[in-house]
Amino acid sequence: MELDKKFDHRLDRGLDRRDFLKGSVAIGGLTALAGLAACAPSDGNDANLDGDAQLQAPEASFETPPEPIADSAITETVEADVVVVGSGDAGIMAALAAVETGARVVMIDKHEFFMAHGLANACINTKIHKEAGITLDPQKIISYLIEQSGNQANQQLLWLWANKSGEVYDHLLELVSDKGITAIPMGSSNPDDVMYPEFDAALLFVGDTEYEMDEAIGHSPQTVLLGAIVDKIQSEGCTAYYQTTAEQLVRNPDGRVDAVIARTASGDYTKFTAAKAVVLATGDYGNNPEMVEKWCPWAALADVNLYAPPINTGDGHKMALWIGAGMQLEPHCPALHPNTGPSGDPPFSASPVLRVNALGERYENEEMPAPYVCTSRIRQPENKAWAIVDANYAEDAPRGSAGLLRTTAVDDAGRELLESVALKADSIPALASAMGVPADTLEKTVARYTELAKAGRDEDFGKSPNNLWAIEQAPFYAIPVPVGFMNTLGGLRINTNMQVLDNTESAQPIPGLYAAGNVSGGLYGTVYPSAVSGINKGWSVTGGYLAGQHAANDN
Ligand SMILES: Cc1cc2nc3c(=O)[nH]c(=O)nc-3n(C[C@H](O)[C@H](O)[C@H](O)COP(=O)(O)OP(=O)(O)OC[C@H]3O[C@@H](n4cnc5c(N)ncnc54)[C@H](O)[C@@H]3O)c2cc1C
Repeated sequence: MELDKKFDHRLDRGLDRRDFLKGSVAIGGLTALAGLAACAPSDGNDANLDGDAQLQAPEASFETPPEPIADSAITETVEADVVVVGSGDAGIMAALAAVETGARVVMIDKHEFFMAHGLANACINTKIHKEAGITLDPQKIISYLIEQSGNQANQQLLWLWANKSGEVYDHLLELVSDKGITAIPMGSSNPDDVMYPEFDAALLFVGDTEYEMDEAIGHSPQTVLLGAIVDKIQSEGCTAYYQTTAEQLVRNPDGRVDAVIARTASGDYTKFTAAKAVVLATGDYGNNPEMVEKWCPWAALADVNLYAPPINTGDGHKMALWIGAGMQLEPHCPALHPNTGPSGDPPFSASPVLRVNALGERYENEEMPAPYVCTSRIRQPENKAWAIVDANYAEDAPRGSAGLLRTTAVDDAGRELLESVALKADSIPALASAMGVPADTLEKTVARYTELAKAGRDEDFGKSPNNLWAIEQAPFYAIPVPVGFMNTLGGLRINTNMQVLDNTESAQPIPGLYAAGNVSGGLYGTVYPSAVSGINKGWSVTGGYLAGQHAANDN
């Protein structure tokens, strides 16, 4: 029943999406008026609104622009050329690029420290790739990304990433080399897969860092890179204001964004003025349930939200919408991965082994790449699935195709982890009972699968013979297939100069406002693309750097 409610809810959201598009027009109307009259967010009750706009009152609380923060509430003003809001992958890189131009730069963040997540940085043909003998064909990669987004991704932005990421990452590698930091290819890819290639674009930064990888910053190897860059920009004059939450953008009568008003830890307001530009790098909105429900309801079907602490609440999205920015028109997608965090990825959870649902039925060709394993799991009955292997799993594993989060070798630690997370039984009916699925169906499913494996031909779902393994040797294991939600992917419309575009039909750049990382939109379709693991970071870092350059050269 619970599941039915969720699905009904999603259908409702389809209607809301259309309503929201109308609502955003209304906001645009409000903002245009506000921009001309008061040059700050409107309260949404403007008496000058035309009839249509009044009928299309925004419904979600974040769609109502707040009262402008009064000058009298501001206790301090900090002057800069470039104000960067957010200090994750995108913000740190924006600050770096701006500092390199000689601009006066401040970076503000609501968190107590900068933020680092994950490890895979997708970039094209850096010197590290070349040294490793990896040649990436941008045309082929972009073709897959277009295909995997159903051509919903903005091809101009995809090519910007493809053309610039190598240059940007080579520059970063150069900058951090004196600290003994380098990068290595992730190497878990499957570039030769005929149907779902995963290209070897992702790099992992390695080296020492003085920063703790903990709850405060994130349990993330990315700390190695970001910590080194933060040290560098601070030593070159960029001041980082932590525990400082941006609440409103200030847009002047001429339409330019020239300040950010933020609340400090003491509760006072500081105005950060930007002589050149503001860069929004506030990340995604995955910890804002109202926004998730509005734009990305699939995210709520994951088992766990991996973004911790829960600081990304779509503040940049909101602030920009309030001053007339346009939201991407295409649907948003969640970044879902079949893992549940630092405690360890369950073996085989994204591997092409037999997967069954709560009915005990096989439901797909299990060769789906990691993110797609999630998109099918969350629509199974009861939102559950298990990977099924038998006692021969360690011998069978090397036969399976490689790829992100796939198990192709099982060592002692892997065996121990499997034993700790899997349900285990000496017969299929007993396994079914432990799983709570119908025993007769599971028996039939396993028997049929074994028959196909022995025949070496998957007549039911077309899986490759090397990924078909007989399941007949006790004990049998059922490993729950996890779905972790990392972040939402959907944001403000931007152009190739990383300028935020307004909500008019002609989508004009808003002077003085840039965005990068997950507050910006346009790079994805309805699912995180499997072809390029790490493109989220790769684009946040590359786009952040470019946004900082453009912002510093504005005016
Ligand atoms: C567990 C996990 C693992 C991941 N692994 C990978 C991976 O391996 N490869 C990959 O490509 N992607 C990965 N991702 C996704 C990737 O980390 C993000 O997409 C990327 O970091 C986005 O960068 P960003 O700068 O846009 O946002 P973030 O890094 O989230 O930074 C946003 C910053 O803005 C600050 N902020 C928010 N609101 C305000 C405000 N109002 N005022 C001031 N500051 C504000 C936040 O405090 C935060 O520090 C992972 C994500 C998670 C959660």
